Amino acid sequence: MFFRNCTATAVLCAVFGILLCPVPAGAQGTEAVKNSLPKDKGRITMAEPIRIDGKTWRIEDGGVRFFLLCGSEKALLLDSGMNTPNAREIAQGLTDLPLILMNTHADRDHISGNRAFDEVMMSPAETENYHANGGTGKIIPVRDGNRIDLGGRTLLILDNPGHTPGSIAVLDESRRVLYAGDSIQDGNIYLFGKFRNVPLYAESLARLLKFADRFDAVFPCHGTFPVYPDLIPRLIEGTDAVMHGKAQGTPTDLHGRTVMLYRFPFAGFLCDMPAQ
Ligand SMILES: [Zn+2]
Repeated sequence: MFFRNCTATAVLCAVFGILLCPVPAGAQGTEAVKNSLPKDKGRITMAEPIRIDGKTWRIEDGGVRFFLLCGSEKALLLDSGMNTPNAREIAQGLTDLPLILMNTHADRDHISGNRAFDEVMMSPAETENYHANGGTGKIIPVRDGNRIDLGGRTLLILDNPGHTPGSIAVLDESRRVLYAGDSIQDGNIYLFGKFRNVPLYAESLARLLKFADRFDAVFPCHGTFPVYPDLIPRLIEGTDAVMHGKAQGTPTDLHGRTVMLYRFPFAGFLCDMPAQ
């Protein structure tokens, strides 16, 4: 009896990181904790949907987030996460509306649930990157200036190349929110390797700034949620400093390759190493 009670208490102690009873040190205590935890059923369930308003969710998937936007007639999944092959199921648990998929861009951390869809809306300029990352399904092209009507909720597509060739931003006009993919955020923005283009990224930011009177918040796929339009001029200044050799970089190992991290108080840029 003492042993059972103590085991139960040990579990609580271990969970809350405190020591209140004479738990046998080492493997026995660890085993008791392991045995008490629910077993992983082999299905990924880490992603956490968080309601933003009655018709909008952000789904936090580790270091990445994606979004569900509902109108009166359709729901749109904007990206499908990094570790969420079940992104479609997650979305269908939140809405009964017919569900369509759009990608802000096609990097691997944004398309893990795409396979559950027959077709996906994205910029045609993103096709090569999508297929390089194993993307499946038919691409329905969306272009700068297109409007997607979900029923009482219209989304304006804005080309936003640089982070990838076919990155788009999505302006939710009625809610005055810009969904900016990876381009406007306070984390470290990937701008190295094939498909990235720093000058084009800077040009795209300057263009988005021209729409800044039409949104009050920016919903990014990484970093702090949300960020605000005043981040855009800072990102432009940062890229300008990088392009003109005025920023101090730190060589950084990333996934086995060395890239240059230019870290500013407001965000970072991960760029190719400068030519010797
Ligand atoms: Zn990303």
